[in-house]
Amino acid sequence: YDDRDGSIWYNGALVPWRDAKLHVLTHGLHYASCVFEGERVYQGAIFKRDEHHQRLLDSARLMGFEVPYSVDEINRAAEQVIEANGITEGYVRPVAWRGSEQMGVAAQRNRIHLAIAAWKWDTYFTPEARLKGIQMRTSPWSRPSPQTAPVHSKASGLYMICTLSKHTAEAEGFNDALMLDYRGRIAEATGANIFLVQNGELHTPEPDCFLDGITRRTVVQLARERGYTVHERAIMPAELDRTDEVFITGTAVEVTPVNRIDDRHFTVGPVTRELVDAFDTLVQNPGTWDQHAASTPPAA
Ligand code: PMP
Repeated sequence: YDDRDGSIWYNGALVPWRDAKLHVLTHGLHYASCVFEGERVYQGAIFKRDEHHQRLLDSARLMGFEVPYSVDEINRAAEQVIEANGITEGYVRPVAWRGSEQMGVAAQRNRIHLAIAAWKWDTYFTPEARLKGIQMRTSPWSRPSPQTAPVHSKASGLYMICTLSKHTAEAEGFNDALMLDYRGRIAEATGANIFLVQNGELHTPEPDCFLDGITRRTVVQLARERGYTVHERAIMPAELDRTDEVFITGTAVEVTPVNRIDDRHFTVGPVTRELVDAFDTLVQNPGTWDQHAASTPPAA
């Protein structure tokens, strides 16, 4: 990704894509003092822009550092990047990290850097997979407890679990991994939240040791508006035996059906189809986004 034309916003100014570099003794690289965001651009606008940039600031605070920019400043910077790179349909990647002033576990004096890149980007899975559903394999790695890691931070360090899980799944011919949590409950995919459909009602794990995704909250709201009951609760893998449909949600995957988890098979059914359509309609109509505040907390 480093050898291309374009501009990246780096600590306050646009720099040529190939020049957006950092030092090898960066604390963020050695000790994972780094947080990031992933955002989608539809028709030139960032979906849930303020929520993403607020989460970036919150993720950094959970890691013990302050990003030296406000949500408004990050909004403007991201818009500059989108415009400079001529993106109408794409992805935005802000990343903030501790710099290289101190080398060691302690890094209170290190400068906090912020960079924002953006690129044209299509769907995460192939159109065929999105239609027929993807196949998931349960990961040998599990999500840690909130006492082990800052699980509500979109912290780079937590993604080593995701990369290990994803590679294991792909090596066996699956599209993605299902991660259980430290208690053996269903948690999430490697870059997305998960929903089950049982008897026409939606069930999704309570996000107490992983991200409460912005897409997850949007889909909960879309489902409730359409009259569906949504349960947020503890879900054990054995329940997959009495589950009719499964789908995952996330900025990258949007709403993607799942047709298989390990040896269990699911149909891409009417509830999943309705929510895929509802989500696509929402994101493709930026004029309607304001009425749809995903910042509205989900009903208890
Ligand atoms: N879980 C993980 C591990 C993720 O990386 C993501 C993507 N940010 C999500 C869930 C979904 O979050 P969102 O809907 O905010 O993209």
